[in-house]
Parts: sequence; C-alpha cells; structure tokens
Amino acid sequence: MDTKGRNMESIKIINRGEILKTLYNSGQMSRKRIAELIGLTSAAITVNVKEMIEEGLIIELGEVEDTKRAGRKEINIDINYNYKYVIGICIEQPDIIITLGKLNLNVVDVYKVPIKKGVGYKKIVKIIKDGVDIILNRNSIDKDYILGVGVGIIGEVDSALGVSKNSFGIIEKNISIKEELEKSLNMKVYVDNNVRTLALGEILSSKDNTNKESLLFIKYGFGVGSAIIIDNKIYSGYNSRAGEIGHTIVYPNGLECRCGKYGCLETISSMWAVGDKIQKIYSKDTTPILYDITYGDIKNINKDTVLMAYELKDNRVTEIVDEALYYFSVSLENYISLLDPSRIILYGSMFEKDLIIDKIKNIFIDKIKDYSVIEKLQRSQNNGHLEEIGPISIIVNRFISNGGYL
Ligand SMILES: [Zn+2]
Repeated sequence: MDTKGRNMESIKIINRGEILKTLYNSGQMSRKRIAELIGLTSAAITVNVKEMIEEGLIIELGEVEDTKRAGRKEINIDINYNYKYVIGICIEQPDIIITLGKLNLNVVDVYKVPIKKGVGYKKIVKIIKDGVDIILNRNSIDKDYILGVGVGIIGEVDSALGVSKNSFGIIEKNISIKEELEKSLNMKVYVDNNVRTLALGEILSSKDNTNKESLLFIKYGFGVGSAIIIDNKIYSGYNSRAGEIGHTIVYPNGLECRCGKYGCLETISSMWAVGDKIQKIYSKDTTPILYDITYGDIKNINKDTVLMAYELKDNRVTEIVDEALYYFSVSLENYISLLDPSRIILYGSMFEKDLIIDKIKNIFIDKIKDYSVIEKLQRSQNNGHLEEIGPISIIVNRFISNGGYL
C-alpha cells in the first residue's frame, strides 16, 4: 500500500474509533448528533456507520424525534454489545481469575483456580487453556464468538510485546505470555501489568472518562501496587515499571523485599508484611483479642480476623496496622507531590472498611498536614470486581479506540 493509501486507512480507523468512543461514553444517539459531537461531516459518519452496521459492530435502534426540526425523524444507533464476547485473565496470587464478559464490561461468568508461587508458565498456560474451555462450554459459547483475551499479570510487563519480565516468582522471567497463550488458545491475546488493567477497568466502567483527568490508582492487598493515568491514558514508563509504589524505599536498611531490594513499602505496609509481623507476636498475652477471635490457632490469622481485632482495638495489632497505614500514607503523599493527580482511587478489600479510610484521612490531617488530599481520596466504584472487569477492559478499550479492530 502506498503512503496515501496507508493514510486513508489510518484516518478510517481514527474516525471509526471516534464514533465508537462517542457511543460507548454517551449511549445511543443519531448519526447527526455524533457528527455534531466529533466534528466530522455527515457524509463521513454515514459511510463509516454503514460499514460498521454491515460488520455487525453497530445496530440501528428506534426512531427519535429531531428536536430542532419538528416532524423529522432520526434513527438512533448504538454499539452492538452482543457482537462478541471477551475473555479476561488475571494472574496473581492467590487465584488465577478467568472471566467471560461482554463488550459493555458486564461479567457473564467467572472461573477461579488457586496458584502458588513458583507455579511456572507451562502450568499457568495449561490452567488457562482448561479454564477457558470450561467457561465456554458451560455457557455454550463457540470460540469464534470471542473477540480477544485480555491478560493482567503481576509485576513488570512489556505490554507492547506481551512479555512478563518479572512476576516476582509466579512464573519464570521474560516469558512471552502473549505468544504462549495465542498458541494454546488460538485467540488474540493482549497482556499488561495487573494493576494497570484494574485502573483501565475503573476508568472504562465509570464512563466518566470524557474529562481529561490525571488519576492515581492504588491497589492494596497482598502487595501494594499502583497505576498512573494521565489524560485518561495509562502511563507505563520507559521500561514498563511505572507505578511500583510498593517498591519505593521507605525504610532504608529494612527487611528484604520480594523484589530483591531492602526496605520497600511492601515490607511494612502490605498484607503479607502485616500478617507476618502479627504472627511473630501472636499469643494469649500479647494479642488477647485476636487470640480469642482465632480460637488460639495461628492458622486462623488472616485479613478478616486481623481487621476484626483492629476494630476491637487489640493494642499490638492496632500498632502494627497503624504503622502500615502510616508508611502507606507517607508514600502516597510523596507520590501525590510528584504527580499532582486530580483524584486518588483506592482499591482493595481493606478500603471497604470505613475505619481504614478514616484512619488514612486522619494521618493526612494530623501527621502529614496535607488537607487537600482528603477530598481527592476516593474508593473504587468496583470494589472486589476489578480483577474480573480489568483484564476484559484491555480488549474492550482496544476495540473501541481502534475502530472495531483489535
Ligand atoms: Zn520491593
């Protein structure tokens, strides 16, 4: 194809993408309204919409009254959200989560398989292949109706190549998950860092993405991760390492982290760090309330029992959790000072507790003395579900932005 031909092709993709984005964000509307919103000629809209209707990406809905010209009818169009299904895969501990979803990010079915550290990519590919077969079979969906597979994996990921560079011990280093899964599933696969997929899921599902915003998305759980969104686009960094808040050093000469460095935020503030510290001091005398809740069995220490003991003010548990939240807040403050985000979205089961959010706000007010952060802190609108929505949103986002192509 000559340069002119290529340019025509890319203009077509951009125009189709603008049409799909407008419908996705604002819902069904007439061709005329789309032309007004995106500033394209009616002729260009008509040609592109006709093509997408023929391909099954867009459907015509009922007639609506043209408000400006009485008596004249317009036909509304919308994205055909039943065009195809999407598969999402979240690879992190404790579970691999396989999700069957629709183009509007609705979750149809979820299948989970627990994994352990060091499981390796061959076993992971097998688990995913079997899981995808199970989820398609039990929903009677043919492979041809899958648009693509979005994968979120913990750690350093080169999203352009689909390579997991370092998953902190779940699989071997520098494995092309994209290539391995495409071979095994015979479907198109796109891969990114897990927290970045969660952030993308949050922005796409909020449909609040028409304003160009800069957000900080924080995931707090087994580890502490984040994603940076600038003007509604995920910023990955030169080496795809941007946003690793959990591996910023908060305590030089501190404990060794799973990344190999010493004194990372994760070594103090993550759930595993908190759990580890509590297990070391656990006894009837030092942690009496937790001891009661866990029936004196150390194996019953988990996120829920720790939070319960924290709520009931078990002194030593409170000290450890408060220290974790303090270092977390300090790291967050530094991050905010560098990036100046419009909002900070907090995601993770810890943040479902008002007590924890209130504690973080108090730290910002009493200790850090930064009051402006309080109004920017927000809970995710999808608490508990982004591991499902996030990976499918990689495919939905590509589909919409690339004018129906992946
Ligand atoms: Zn680290």
